[in-house]
Amino acid sequence: MNQPGPQRVVRVLVDGLGDRVFDYALPEGVEVQRGSRVEVPLRNRRTTGTVVTLRQIGEEEEVEDTALRFIIRVLDDGSSVSPELMDLAEWAAQYYAVSVEQMLRCIVPEQVRSENHDPKIRRIVRMVRRPSEEELDKMRVRAQRQAAVICTLVATENSCATLSQLGGGRVLNVCRSLEKQGFVRLEIERVHRDPAGETEFAPTKPLTLNEEQEVALHSILEAFAAGDSKPLLLQGVTGSGKTEVYLQAAEAAVSQGKGVLILVPEISLTPQTVARFKGRFANNPGLVAILHSAMSGGERYDEWHAIHRGRARIVIGPRSALFAPIVNLGLIIVDEEHDSSYKQESAPRYHGRDLAVLRARLERAAVVLGSATPSLESIYNARRGKYRLVRMAHRVDGQRLPLTRVLDMRSEPKDKSLMGLVSNYLKRAMEQRLLRGEQCILFLNRRGFARALQCSDCGHIVTCEHCSLPLTYHITENRLICHICGYRSVVPESCPECRGRAIQLQGSGTQKVEELLKRAFPNARIQRVDADVTVRKNALRDILEAFRSHRIDILLGTQMISKGLDFPRVTLVGVLNADLGLSIPDPRAAERTFQLLTQVAGRAGRGDMEGEVIIQTYNPQAAAIQYTRRHDTDGFAENELGMRERFAFPPFSHLAVITVRSVREELASFAISTLYRRLQPLLPPSTEISEPLPAPIVKAYGQYRYQCVLKAPSARVFSQVIARQIALLSPGEDVTVTLDVDAYSFM
Ligand code: ADP
Ligand code: ZN
Repeated sequence: MNQPGPQRVVRVLVDGLGDRVFDYALPEGVEVQRGSRVEVPLRNRRTTGTVVTLRQIGEEEEVEDTALRFIIRVLDDGSSVSPELMDLAEWAAQYYAVSVEQMLRCIVPEQVRSENHDPKIRRIVRMVRRPSEEELDKMRVRAQRQAAVICTLVATENSCATLSQLGGGRVLNVCRSLEKQGFVRLEIERVHRDPAGETEFAPTKPLTLNEEQEVALHSILEAFAAGDSKPLLLQGVTGSGKTEVYLQAAEAAVSQGKGVLILVPEISLTPQTVARFKGRFANNPGLVAILHSAMSGGERYDEWHAIHRGRARIVIGPRSALFAPIVNLGLIIVDEEHDSSYKQESAPRYHGRDLAVLRARLERAAVVLGSATPSLESIYNARRGKYRLVRMAHRVDGQRLPLTRVLDMRSEPKDKSLMGLVSNYLKRAMEQRLLRGEQCILFLNRRGFARALQCSDCGHIVTCEHCSLPLTYHITENRLICHICGYRSVVPESCPECRGRAIQLQGSGTQKVEELLKRAFPNARIQRVDADVTVRKNALRDILEAFRSHRIDILLGTQMISKGLDFPRVTLVGVLNADLGLSIPDPRAAERTFQLLTQVAGRAGRGDMEGEVIIQTYNPQAAAIQYTRRHDTDGFAENELGMRERFAFPPFSHLAVITVRSVREELASFAISTLYRRLQPLLPPSTEISEPLPAPIVKAYGQYRYQCVLKAPSARVFSQVIARQIALLSPGEDVTVTLDVDAYSFM
């Protein structure tokens, strides 16, 4: 049957049903666009969804479904998605082989979707008529509490106060009766929940840029003015003043009515960067919004809407902030673009930097990728002209980069009191700094890493029952803890394998080193920073503040202290175990080690005092360590790109990992073999697939893990094929199959 007259039909991606779409008719007079959020009927219930397409059906066209139902209404909760973000969602869904709906859930978070969200409110008491002296005197006699409220209000600048300032709920009735008498009015005000909370940020002024900074800023503003989204790779040594360039670029963009997105590795690890942005724009506190994973639902709701309404123009956050609904986005900055935290390690497994580059293209925004140690992907893209390279080779303060010394721990004399963990050389260097009233940072790769229990008779290492990894000893609890699944166990008195008594701790973690250091330097103020210490909210911020104001002499920490920190009195950085990261089965192991060491080294000598870096290693010849010594990012990249090309590793290929997990080993191994057999004939010849193998961590969270690694010139050639085969496999409830496109973790 033909519908009379033209009809507008919208295709709606209904929430919570994967990628199922349904067509609805649009009632006369109702306007929607791609990305609008709508309420629709579905069978006998109502649900919500997102408009994906919109079309006119002419008179001559057959309408397939005559019983097309009408949408109920357009949601006006401000959760609509811009057409650019719709494109981003669809592109990412294809590339990472996930549903569009899954990507949309990143773009419009759950807290924003629920319409019945309680806004936080507060009551304001405003004086509307000032009582005469006579009235006030009477009041003092008859109603003391009313008089007290009036007196407080009189004393305020604008004759109003919040109810809590006046004494809270206790005085609500007092105020109500004052309202009845016409003296005050009670108002309700919506409060914006600010995740930065009460923190005060000292306002700062733009600094006069040096020549390199000028050139960098100019290039960014040029791209910005032209709407040119070819990425700029800003390769600037630590302390070259990149953040100042970002601040001034952001300021310029905002003054021209554009929005700015700043991605940082992790908010809690980059408090200084956040503080610098808040400080620079302190005269307009609502301008800068912060998004992070530890926000409460209410805070997220408020910040999200402030951004969506165009009130907040600068957004700072970790990878997920890349989806923020910034109005009229003009500039994207990805700080520390090499950082692996930009890759999401749960579905959807997107890469924040890569999607930021894509979003810039969709929005015609300029995009800056900044780092002292760019990823090899970005360096390679700059070399072949896809990115534009801008360098900042000198430190702002004119300081030379710190002198770096590599100590070969196989032959280096070690200090006995520190159980051989610290060489005599490093210990003496620390003593000197303490005498001079300077500060040291000691860096240990990984929390509690390698502090395993080992039998010196049979060599057995005590491992987790649920994962195949060594358990780590934690002194405060006197327990062995699994760092993968959190399993805890008492310390056995004898070897579980040979029953021998020669079982003892090997290696050392941050806690052990802290204990030893306190003994070796009884007069020094020593503070440890690792994931255990920083579980308390604001702990890291407080510690860094104490270190900055020199209430701590030696800061001992894990990679947490490697990022974006800037302490002028630190003249010595010691790396206790440089090579731990090198033995991980991962094509990026050397790159990560180089980046980490270079970042750590960059913490030394930032003020007007020269810095020294001491790297202890059992692999002194490793390229990652040798190039760190010379701060030679280009040399390292050259060398490493040669290796990668030889083995066709990224950036010369794309890697993906298929992982099958199950509590029953035979199910996991059967599923991966089946998938492998079916995929082999379907994959294009350019794709290599590894034989199914147990993962390096064979068992985690009680599940066995098997994987296949794929390698191809482009991920697009295999994503969809694999996704289809995974869907067809239907391996049963106790087997999970995941695909990680452009994988960063192979464990
Ligand atoms: P990066 O981000 O490259 O590591 P920062 O932006 O943190 O470098 O700059 C290092 C230090 O130099 C900071 O304390 C910053 O305030 C200061 N600084 C940056 N630019 C200038 C400048 N043009 N003049 C003076 N000091 C500057
Ligand atoms: Zn475990």
